[in-house]
Amino acid sequence: MNKISRFSARGSLCKTLAFVLVAITVSSCQCSEEVKVVNSVVEGRYQFGDINSTQLKAATRLGIEPLEERDDLEKVADKLVEIKTNDMYKVDRLDYSVPYLIPSAATLLHDIGRSFQDRLHEDGYRKHRIIVTSVLRTQEDVDRLMGKNQNATKKSCHMYATTFDITYVRFERISMEGKPIADSKLCNVLGAVLEKLRDEGRCFVKFENNQHCFHITTRS
Ligand SMILES: [Zn+2]
Repeated sequence: MNKISRFSARGSLCKTLAFVLVAITVSSCQCSEEVKVVNSVVEGRYQFGDINSTQLKAATRLGIEPLEERDDLEKVADKLVEIKTNDMYKVDRLDYSVPYLIPSAATLLHDIGRSFQDRLHEDGYRKHRIIVTSVLRTQEDVDRLMGKNQNATKKSCHMYATTFDITYVRFERISMEGKPIADSKLCNVLGAVLEKLRDEGRCFVKFENNQHCFHITTRS
């Protein structure tokens, strides 16, 4: 076999391998897919209105001193836990925040994710996980965001590592087992989970219509 035919034989082998790989990837992805909630109508009772000043009181009481920039994270590393995608929730690509929370806020997030799945499971629906869209912001992050987002107030609860956002327009389906669920229903299952935890005094919640998320601050 000369050099060229050896090369082209290798090329077709590569193509075959690539095809097999794509096929495997596609088939293994069938149970995991982001679901966009097109008809997201969050019921009025779940449009919680815990305003910034209310949430800020809990944030300043429980949280860290706000950080100027991301390099300062090291200074408070012992007070924070890293939030990573797991079975309960997915951490979205974070452009204006970093994935760190104080431990009680991390526990709250975990509990929200687990309760959400418990409710789906109880009613025989397919397993989905919630998606976290914003976590801890430094002053630098807030300044960058200010230009884009009018709700990013100077004194943001996100600067205290007590607060995170969960979108109500996207969820990730992670199993094909069980009944399919209408996408419009998922946001209200999440609303019901938050209502219970809020009633128990675990958190403050603000329904953010423009950003399509629930803005949540731990109270303990
Ligand atoms: Zn928020």
